[in-house]
Amino acid sequence: MTAGFSAVDLRRLLSRLRDVMAGIGAVQERLDKVVALIAQDMRCDVCSCYVMRAGEVLELFATFGLSQKAVHLTRLRVGEGLVGEIAAHARAVALADAWSHPQFVYRPETGEDFFRSLMGVPMLQAGRVIGVLVVQTKLERPFNDWEVETLETVAMVIAELIAAAQVVKREELFQTEGNALLHVRLSGISLNAGVGVGVAVMHKPHVRIGRLVSDDPIAEQHRLHGALDGLRAEVDALIHGSRGEAEAFGDILEVYRMFADDRGWISRISEVIASGLTAEAAVQKVHDDTRVRMMQVNDPILRERLQDLDDLANRLLSILAGVTTRGELPDNAILVCRSIGPTELLDYDRRKLKGLVMEEGSPTMHAAVMAKALDIPVVAQVQGALARIDSFDQIVLDANAGQVILRPSDEVIDLYSAAIEARAQQKAAYAAVKNLPAVTKDGVDVALHINAGFLLDLAGLAETNAAGIGLYRTEMPFLALRTLPDVKAQHALYGQVIAEAKGKPVTFRTLDVGGDKIAASSATLPEDNPAMGWRSIRLTLDRPSLLRQQLRALIRATAGVQLRVMFPMIASIAEFAAAKAIFDMEMDRHLAQGGQAPKSVKVGTMLEVPSLLWQLDGLLKQADFISIGTNDLLQFIYAADRGNTRLANRYDPLSPAMLQILKRIIDHCGERDVEVSICGEMAAKPLDALALLALGFRNLSMSASGIGPVRDAIRKAVLSEFEPFVLDLLGSEEPSVRERLRAFALDRGVGAL
Ligand code: PEP
Ligand code: MG
Repeated sequence: MTAGFSAVDLRRLLSRLRDVMAGIGAVQERLDKVVALIAQDMRCDVCSCYVMRAGEVLELFATFGLSQKAVHLTRLRVGEGLVGEIAAHARAVALADAWSHPQFVYRPETGEDFFRSLMGVPMLQAGRVIGVLVVQTKLERPFNDWEVETLETVAMVIAELIAAAQVVKREELFQTEGNALLHVRLSGISLNAGVGVGVAVMHKPHVRIGRLVSDDPIAEQHRLHGALDGLRAEVDALIHGSRGEAEAFGDILEVYRMFADDRGWISRISEVIASGLTAEAAVQKVHDDTRVRMMQVNDPILRERLQDLDDLANRLLSILAGVTTRGELPDNAILVCRSIGPTELLDYDRRKLKGLVMEEGSPTMHAAVMAKALDIPVVAQVQGALARIDSFDQIVLDANAGQVILRPSDEVIDLYSAAIEARAQQKAAYAAVKNLPAVTKDGVDVALHINAGFLLDLAGLAETNAAGIGLYRTEMPFLALRTLPDVKAQHALYGQVIAEAKGKPVTFRTLDVGGDKIAASSATLPEDNPAMGWRSIRLTLDRPSLLRQQLRALIRATAGVQLRVMFPMIASIAEFAAAKAIFDMEMDRHLAQGGQAPKSVKVGTMLEVPSLLWQLDGLLKQADFISIGTNDLLQFIYAADRGNTRLANRYDPLSPAMLQILKRIIDHCGERDVEVSICGEMAAKPLDALALLALGFRNLSMSASGIGPVRDAIRKAVLSEFEPFVLDLLGSEEPSVRERLRAFALDRGVGAL
């Protein structure tokens, strides 16, 4: 802290700002007074406030010290100049000599040539940049951390004024080339296909902070601690939640409790209260700061935690504000959020939830996995969703095309409602034939299995009448944990899976953490290339106690029943042998201790790393079965990150290269008489499934939603017609044979592909 500007000065400035903001007059007038006050109190020659307008443009909204002619005239794109830089990175900049900075942009209309130093901070509202606040001085002046901190606190107060006054009119955001509000289309990526029509419900709408500045820090500290007690009670109640699903996620919820008790977090909030803000303003400020800092770290583990932090701060804010943020849903609700945790999703009545729109989100996030299990259409990475969508806006969510249609016309609603009806009818039709065998017209039997990862996925077994679980992703419930649950907890969980499978086979895959499925349990140094990093079997072979505990739990849970276990990301025979040796050791130990043996044991491997293609002979001597993970295999064959949305449809599994690889595997397995299946997403698409059958596969595992359509296609196809056609396509030089195969199938009466 400098002698120049003290904590007392800050409190005085804040209370003067509060008086101006609470006063009467137009927003412009009040903003003019605010910038003058800041410049004066912080002993700067200039204070300017830039506000984010439509199209990512920062407009000079008020200034003290720059030419008044520039107000509403000077505009900078995000990323342009120092102001644009501050907005782009949501990061403060403090420069004694701004002119020498490469990002400096000279704007003659502002009369800026007289000012040498510059300090600017982003104005944040609910973690989003809504403007930039800048001070400048004529003489070179180094700004210290305390001054940056002060300006950040002030910026937060102004951000509330701007947000409350809705300086950035919502309509403006929607306008495109002079068009009016209606019928806005926002694009994103689909995390779960489907269509939903309903009204927007904002998930945890930002709690509006009524009071920002306080004269009684001690009373605010009391309020904070009271609210923290409430928060802990809420998290405890969730942990002991009455809903069945919440139990399955109990371990994830424990992480929330850890955050709620985090001393660093609480003491930072206390410090901000001491500087003169109310408890809720302090929570918001600390959260905004943390969020911005975490966004800048290129570490997926931290990013994953961000969601939990958002959740926690929101819960705390709503307790402080005495409001409940989890309202009743209307019958047709489309939930709109920045991001959502799996447990938050569970809080809602899923019968009323027709879709989910997210501003952030990624295919592997927990909520996406849950939404798939619950059959809720999801469109994620929709830029500006929170700013553009208002509560109760009508929305058509077309998650098949990754589109959100805001305030659609009646015709559009009718069109989509008809599509939903047709889909419901189709689902009912699939359900009606679920007991019919998956057998082609020429009598070839196919075993259809489901992929699962959560207990609630298991309902899919009965709904689809699948033959079993071809892939149980054991990492799913544990993704957010620092450590794995102990053997007892794992034993209980796997036991439940076995029980709910009711005698149908379950293939458990050992932990596949790391890469795109980062678990805090694998938290180590950040990696440049996590998908190809220290992940999965590499990690568990290096930390054998993890693998041993998991295998021990699996062996105990399958006493007297069949045990099928496989290892992910195996890249060499030696890795498989090492993992298998650990399994054998655990089995010997179990038996030596008098444990009951499983009825039968099969130990297999995923085939998803291309190096195995040249080790098949040796591998097949050791592995009891092979399950091909086409998601990873495709990513490694084409060197195309499976999580990168820009590459999403660039390389097709129905490419001659991929089909030839699959053919090579099935041929080897046939020669050695080793069981082989496909468990990647490819198997869930009817056309792809037909291609796989034509290559010789007879065992497919997929998300439960794929079973109906795949069974339907199988039952309509004469396989002997497809076989020569697909084999012929292997020699094609086209990047994809999808369209040729589709036309062929349609000609033979296999539609809905
Ligand atoms: C795959 O890689 O295809 C697979 C089934 O495993 P996951 O999607 O869990 O990586
Ligand atoms: Mg995989």
